[in-house]
Amino acid sequence: MAGGWETVIGLETHVQLRTASKMFCGCSAAFGDPPNTNVCPVCLGLPGALPTPNEQALKLAVRAALALGCTVHPRSIFARKNYFYPDLPKGYQISQFEQPLATEGSLSYLSPERGLATATIQRLHVEEDAGKSLHDRFPKQTAIDLNRCGVPLIEIVTGPDFRSPQEARAYLLTLKQVLEYAGISDCDMEKGSLRVDANVSVRRAGDTALGTKTEVKNINSFAYVEKALTVERDRQIALLEGGGAVQQQTLLYDSKTNGVRPQRSKEESHDYRYFPDPDLPPLVLTEEFVAEQQTLLPELPAKKRERFAAQYALGVTDAAVLTADRAVAEYYEAVVHAGADAKAAANWVMTEVLADAKDHGDGLRVPPGALANLIGLVRGGTVSHQAAKRVFAEVAEHGGEPRNVAEALGVIQVADAGVLAAWVGEVLGAHPAEVARYKNGEKKLMQFFLGQVMKTSRGKADPKLAQRVLEEKLPS
Ligand code: ADP
Ligand code: ZN
Ligand code: MG
Repeated sequence: MAGGWETVIGLETHVQLRTASKMFCGCSAAFGDPPNTNVCPVCLGLPGALPTPNEQALKLAVRAALALGCTVHPRSIFARKNYFYPDLPKGYQISQFEQPLATEGSLSYLSPERGLATATIQRLHVEEDAGKSLHDRFPKQTAIDLNRCGVPLIEIVTGPDFRSPQEARAYLLTLKQVLEYAGISDCDMEKGSLRVDANVSVRRAGDTALGTKTEVKNINSFAYVEKALTVERDRQIALLEGGGAVQQQTLLYDSKTNGVRPQRSKEESHDYRYFPDPDLPPLVLTEEFVAEQQTLLPELPAKKRERFAAQYALGVTDAAVLTADRAVAEYYEAVVHAGADAKAAANWVMTEVLADAKDHGDGLRVPPGALANLIGLVRGGTVSHQAAKRVFAEVAEHGGEPRNVAEALGVIQVADAGVLAAWVGEVLGAHPAEVARYKNGEKKLMQFFLGQVMKTSRGKADPKLAQRVLEEKLPS
């Protein structure tokens, strides 16, 4: 660590649960609707309106807790977090405080510095979101959109376990992967469905006591998490090295200047006066309910990665790439189940398939069965690997069976000895100097001749047969 300082980071991540409706009322939780159209007496906090917990949200929250190895408590308490802010019409947010839904979980992730590392999950609780203040709609005025008010969230709090901004980012990527896999959230930071508050302190290497921390908010991408933590860590170190002290406070990150500034004190409320919400009974979850959520969890990324590596004899890196996204992992397995060689399928998925998905953004366009057939055509020598890429692109764009498409493109490899002999003859005739050098012992020119035959045949020559014909025809 630079200058004998150790960085200590803990993250609080808010994740919007993938539900159709809000946490305590029937309003739509959809993103992007016209402002203030998804509101009702409950989420507007009108007098007399009573909240009712959203069962689907509770299911997803419990699944998230189980996916993170937490203990889910049979009884938890909804509490009011009181503060005044224009986008909070009730004057409080319903959250959980002293008795959260779940505690004591963990998540392993790949630290760039320490290899496989484990972050502890201190707690995971359910809460509702506040509305949104819009400062860019009307000049010099603040507009309020209450559509987000009451949208279901979980907050996932780690221990002070990360030792670098890079580790914090790696954890977040892993967390996002798990939550996406399990269908808990779309984790789209641009829509605000995943938000991170980052706590950071520094201490002298070797110290065991934690230093005074600051909390950085307003970070809207994982890259900015890393940057914000880096500038704040550096600011604290400079302060301490100059004989100053870190003040515990909340800071806002400004990505334009890559700097942090203190939140206006008005915006900060240290005392939320939490108390149990009198409108909501304790949340009681039966063992059956929790057990059912466990059965509804899919195989999670870490498990799938290990299984892929073992079952398909893949390297860990390849297995990690193939399992990073659940849809891609399932696609890969479907290609293998359709009869493709596991290693060849892995190579195709990691190159052509992912590149195509990235370029077109409309999913995995070549059906798994078609890719398996295409891989079979390459294996059987019917088309070259190069030509197969063209077939792949064509099938992706217009569909069709790979063999038919290969025929239509005229790339079926020619294994006819007579035709091959004619191409070989043409190549040897055109390169007498190379033929002479080959004769004088430059046997590595075989690759050159083979390349020329492939070129002359416009990729259609069966390379193995072409080499055999070349060996016959070249003087030894
Ligand atoms: P607060 O009371 O400010 O909310 P908490 O103890 O609840 O603080 O912790 C909030 C987050 O800050 C957690 O992720 C925790 O791991 C992290 N954290 C707590 N103390 C420190 C510290 N000294 N340095 C870095 N992170 C910390
Ligand atoms: Zn409502
Ligand atoms: Mg706290």
